[in-house]
Amino acid sequence: MSEPSTTIFDEILAGDIPCHRVYEDDHVLAFLDINPLSPGHLLVIPKEAKAHLHQLSDESAAAVGRALPRLCRAVMQVSGSSAYNVLQNNGASAHQAVFHVHFHIIPKLEDGRGLGIHWPAAALESPEEMVEGLRSALERDPS
Ligand code: 5GP
Repeated sequence: MSEPSTTIFDEILAGDIPCHRVYEDDHVLAFLDINPLSPGHLLVIPKEAKAHLHQLSDESAAAVGRALPRLCRAVMQVSGSSAYNVLQNNGASAHQAVFHVHFHIIPKLEDGRGLGIHWPAAALESPEEMVEGLRSALERDPS
């Protein structure tokens, strides 16, 4: 994947372009998505400048994980909906447009506004082989 090293979110973090800030701590910023799928659609980003989730430090990942449930509760309150999606895209083919890690919190409203999902599920031929491959990948990548 080849992506620009600085993104619009770096400019937001630097205060060079405006955003509607909702939450900030030492590691995390949350702000309104400029083009929301439904009212309350939030973006939650680490301050660490990494394009993809798998590149994020444990510290940033923990900080984002800590902030997310509270931000979800706030989104539920303002949207009046208990249904929502948390979406995190990695790679252009996976619908990532801004190459700075970000989590979307997207209220799903009764009128249908929110995230639409295409979910073409298909059973694996060999789940055992898959588990083996994943376990050995994890062993080669200890935390
Ligand atoms: P992605 O497809 O990369 O997961 O989503 C990127 C999101 O960033 C989009 O939902 C888009 O509306 C949002 N976005 C892009 N540029 C800006 C911006 O300048 N300000 C804000 N607040 N959101 C942005």
